[in-house]
Amino acid sequence: MVPGLTPSLPATFWQAALRGIRSRCPRCGEAPLFRKWLKPLDACPHCGVDWSPQRADDFPAYIAIIVTGHLMAPLIIALSKDFDLGPAGMFAILVPLALVMMLGLLQPSKGAVIAAQWWYGLHGFSKERLPENEGTKAGSDQV
Ligand SMILES: [Zn+2]
Repeated sequence: MVPGLTPSLPATFWQAALRGIRSRCPRCGEAPLFRKWLKPLDACPHCGVDWSPQRADDFPAYIAIIVTGHLMAPLIIALSKDFDLGPAGMFAILVPLALVMMLGLLQPSKGAVIAAQWWYGLHGFSKERLPENEGTKAGSDQV
């Protein structure tokens, strides 16, 4: 491997996705992915990958809705069974909590979607992978 050429490419899809969830560049992990809350940078200032091909569209919102719904459902059931809250009490607890969760999940979801598009080479991204068998070749030769 040429030093400095591809040292920080993610080894797996999950590593790239985790970088995106943390709002870091999925390719290098060294620079921020977003210039505003949901607005990605045009290109990574560290590794130079062009983010303009990304097409996350509404998918991050769907992810945020699904996750929020699945986390809220047990809470709604617990609140309705274990506490004597009226509709106003339930509304006062659940609506702000759902809003905070939804808004808090949007950027990580979008980062993960962009990371997935980059990893799989969708929408004009080019697939980049670490050289195969780089750390494991010596071990596989011994078998
Ligand atoms: Zn980068």
